Amino acid sequence: MLKVVKFGGSSLASAEQFKKVGKIIREEESRRYVIPSAPGKRFSTDIKVTDMLYQCYETAVQGKNFDKQLDDIKKRYMEIIEGLGLSLSLDQEFDTIHKLFADKAGADYAASRGEYLNGIIMANYLGFVFIDAAKVIFFKEDGTLDSDKTNECLKERLAKEEKAVIPGFYGCGADGKVKTFSRGGSDITGSLVARAVSADLYENWTDVSGFLITDPRIVENPKPIDVITYRELRELSYMGATVLHEDAIFPVRKEGIPINIRNTNAPQDKGTLIVESTCRKAKYTITGIAGHCGFASVYLEKAMMNNEIGFGRKVLEVFEHNGISFEHIPSGIDTMTVFVEQKQLEEKEQRVLAELHRAVSPDVIELETDLALIAVVGRGMKSTRGTAGRIFSALAHANINIKMIDQGSSELNIIIGVRTDDFKPAIKAIYDIFVMTEL
Ligand code: ASP
Repeated sequence: MLKVVKFGGSSLASAEQFKKVGKIIREEESRRYVIPSAPGKRFSTDIKVTDMLYQCYETAVQGKNFDKQLDDIKKRYMEIIEGLGLSLSLDQEFDTIHKLFADKAGADYAASRGEYLNGIIMANYLGFVFIDAAKVIFFKEDGTLDSDKTNECLKERLAKEEKAVIPGFYGCGADGKVKTFSRGGSDITGSLVARAVSADLYENWTDVSGFLITDPRIVENPKPIDVITYRELRELSYMGATVLHEDAIFPVRKEGIPINIRNTNAPQDKGTLIVESTCRKAKYTITGIAGHCGFASVYLEKAMMNNEIGFGRKVLEVFEHNGISFEHIPSGIDTMTVFVEQKQLEEKEQRVLAELHRAVSPDVIELETDLALIAVVGRGMKSTRGTAGRIFSALAHANINIKMIDQGSSELNIIIGVRTDDFKPAIKAIYDIFVMTEL
């Protein structure tokens, strides 16, 4: 058994948290490769070290004195080092950082130091080898990850180490300078390492015990999700998945390595297992419900539209021209509705309408705003009859008018459009009908 373990910022925010992490790693010999984030928030009003670094570097770029800001960052690390009783000095590292900030080494370099320094502390604390991510993770000229080169290099380097710490979030750009992933990118590093060493499991330790069936701000104490497939998770990405970086899925998915979301503060919880495919029956017909407000719809009507070849393309071209991506396009015989993010449409609204008139001369165009989309997702839906019927009757009972319905042919999800005011009651009603009555 070989596990790659990634720990998020809140799991490493203080010496106390580091100790929990140390215990988790030492508990199992198989936890051999460790990916740390930068120290996160210790309490809700605290500032993440990554944000402190961005701010400090901004001061440096403006040519102002940044000594105090850098010192505050150093204090965060010293507190951890002292709390762990380590004899480790970061003086030299901070001298280098000071110099490179003054030389304007780049915001990516600045932000990456959060993980880099935490990695040094972690390696020292565990007695593992430290491997600088800039030597094993590579980006291409266009800024995207060079996954082949990265995989080869990581594989070769890690084959030489029984146990190692590889800091998350950054690698080496095509220009040889440090480059970071987007925020929350340590999840991607963990996934890359898991792929390179052909891990049996990628454990992603955070501060929640996995995914919940729905948003706890909408439904009180929703049940946890034990097992979810990668595809279901994608369909649920409306949730504004803050638990796991979206791009972290691809490297491990390619190799069929499952991801286990675990809670550093409740290691006894099993968390959520994310898998390619499973025979395990889902507990409920649905795996999750997620949604988002802030959508608008553009409704088009034109007599004999269904005979007009190219109508849909011309409509979508207008949105494309204006840089607006669409979410869903339900259609009828003579009607077509394009759902888009309201934010994207707002500024360009009149231009879009004019262009639509020019492109397809519709009889009617109507705009509707303040809509919400809800995705009801579950592999269990495929083999169960009546799922849609249950959703509709639950919504009817709750007095909610459905504005749109869209079921993908994968039968994995049903998307429902409702008015923003109905968003929360709709989710509650769907949750109740599937989870509370299936108990
Ligand atoms: N420390 C980085 C961030 O705050 C990356 C990470 O935590 O994954 O976004």
